[in-house]
Amino acid sequence: MNILSLLRVPPDYCKNCNTKLYFYAFKVFYIGSYYLGYQRQPHSLAIENFLENAFIGEHLICCFKLHGYRSVSRTDAGVNALGNVFVIGTNHEPVLEKINSKLPKNGSIIVWAKLPIQKEMQLKPVKYKIYQYFYPHKVYNSTKLKLIDFIGTYDFTPFIKKDKKAIQNNICTLYSFTVESTPTGLLFQIVGDHFGWEQIRRMLGFLVNKKLAEAEILPVLQKQTKYNAIPLPGYFLTLHHIELPVDREWAIANVSFLIKRTMEKNETTLSLIELKNLMMANLLQMLQNY
Ligand SMILES: [Zn+2]
Repeated sequence: MNILSLLRVPPDYCKNCNTKLYFYAFKVFYIGSYYLGYQRQPHSLAIENFLENAFIGEHLICCFKLHGYRSVSRTDAGVNALGNVFVIGTNHEPVLEKINSKLPKNGSIIVWAKLPIQKEMQLKPVKYKIYQYFYPHKVYNSTKLKLIDFIGTYDFTPFIKKDKKAIQNNICTLYSFTVESTPTGLLFQIVGDHFGWEQIRRMLGFLVNKKLAEAEILPVLQKQTKYNAIPLPGYFLTLHHIELPVDREWAIANVSFLIKRTMEKNETTLSLIELKNLMMANLLQMLQNY
């Protein structure tokens, strides 16, 4: 079960714009610490507010609500994304470079890929999500970590912040959980079908507070031990990728402006993997200097 399957089919038509809607999925990159969270609020400096204003500025929509906007992941305050995904119905075909020209000039939010979709796509669960967490210390022997104990389908309630206002589905499947040493710290990678509120930061907070190698993960999951894990900070967490149930190619924006600014390179076309690596390298550089 995925939260997306609870949503209603979006509209075909905007009465306010008097136009038919064409649905697209978009991939968005952002540096979370620049903004007041992801989820839009009236007159807020949240990432969604900047996205909505850029789409309105390009006359693609009148507002998110009437155009069937759905975010696939609402990341917490401070959390970054290389490939968060949102879906919306636009009045005409969107041009990514034009949308990006309406977003902050420092490149801290970039809509970098688009894919035309059937609007019903919104109702299908995503295949998996990949998160990365950069832990900027080298004090632990990462080879002793029992990360494998997190893998599988469990009730992750001991590691999920309670939300009294929402129905939470805390049964999650983790497909992999790995760590690699970098010159400046540890880089964790977690792949799962979905994640609860603060789940990754609380799992890692548990490991760190228990001195990593001594942490007994399985008893907490199997016995549902009440454990008030302190979450690690959000600004080292990145939503790296969301795999949608589609197998068509995404159209990628020309982000040469970003390369010129940050890497002083002359290439104007990049493959998807090169682009992601570049974004990740920039992001890690920023995080290390945070
Ligand atoms: Zn409209």
